[in-house]
Amino acid sequence: MKFGTKAIHAGVEPDPTTGAIMTPIYQTSTYVQRSPGDHKGYEYSRTHNPTRTQLQNALAALENGKHGLCFASGMAAIDAVVKMLSPGDEVISTNDLYGGSYRIFTKIFQNYGIKFHFISMADINNIENYVNENTKLLWVETPTNPLLNIIDIKGAAAIARKHNLKLVVDNTFATPYLQLPLDLGADIVMHSLTKYMGGHSDVVMGALIVKDDELHEKLAFIQNASGGTPGPQDCFLLLRGLKTLHLRMQRHCENGRAIAQYLKNHPKVEKVFWPGFEDHHNHAIAKNQMRDFGGMISFVLKGDKMEDAIQTLERFKFFALAESLGGVESLCGHPASMTHASIPREERMKGGLSDSLIRLSVGVEDIEDLIADLEQAIG
Ligand SMILES: *Cc1c(COP(=O)(O)O)cnc(C)c1O
Repeated sequence: MKFGTKAIHAGVEPDPTTGAIMTPIYQTSTYVQRSPGDHKGYEYSRTHNPTRTQLQNALAALENGKHGLCFASGMAAIDAVVKMLSPGDEVISTNDLYGGSYRIFTKIFQNYGIKFHFISMADINNIENYVNENTKLLWVETPTNPLLNIIDIKGAAAIARKHNLKLVVDNTFATPYLQLPLDLGADIVMHSLTKYMGGHSDVVMGALIVKDDELHEKLAFIQNASGGTPGPQDCFLLLRGLKTLHLRMQRHCENGRAIAQYLKNHPKVEKVFWPGFEDHHNHAIAKNQMRDFGGMISFVLKGDKMEDAIQTLERFKFFALAESLGGVESLCGHPASMTHASIPREERMKGGLSDSLIRLSVGVEDIEDLIADLEQAIG
């Protein structure tokens, strides 16, 4: 199956009891047993729920994995991965990271004796400088948020294999439409389904996708034991969103390309961050591991003044000023004070995230309207 066909059909079966083509919302917490232990595979909805099962299967199919696991949020999915570790273990992560990931690593898991290194992975050879006998996990986000750096997944997978580490890729920005980390050697794909996968800004959810049975068993144990699972109504919304993932992503990419070019030529714009530019630091890797370059763009205005950025953000009409990304509607944001406020300024600046950086999540509206909005907002 090609990707678009998969998005609509893979992993999802018409309901066996009625033939309903869309997966029903099994709004139930428990399931009747004929005799103790004699049931139809469902006992309690924290452990299994038929709506969630179909979503997990669909996600596994889209990521070319074998098993999917859904969580009540992207953060709950991240939480489950790190819970596989023990005190003394070490994680090597990128320094240009989703703020919430940085927060859970440093403010929660560091207190449990797990050590995190936040390093530049623009050149993946840098990773080996931080590997020691306690290293267990490599945490990669690509493209990164909000600077759109690109990390070589295949290269990171080779390093992980060599040192017997597990490679996790946060695939939230790219989605399986653009890149397939498991095919490139990753062990775990992590998603905030809240973003492009759901695609309609109406649900918060996360997921993990793996190929390996043993790894799945460990993570499924944590999913059930810790209990950060989503409800069936939300799983239904996700299943509905996935059916148009390929259509939405195609338009996000088209609009993203047009806006990146527009901003690059704008006299008031200093710098544009978008992996599709030939002079992007890791453009060649992006071209190699991604189908297209997505709808996320960041830029800095000439003069790099925080007030100019704030005023521009206030003037937008179609780009709504909001946290989050990946919905059908265009959003704009100010990472330094919004999504990345939990990262200390010094850490932010080290990675190049300046105070005046504006981040765009380019939606699927008509491009003429979006360009006109940028025109009037930047002035
Ligand atoms: C939003 C996001 C998360 C966290 O997901 P939630 O669904 O908000 O809990 C993790 N990683 C990235 C890249 C994100 O954009």
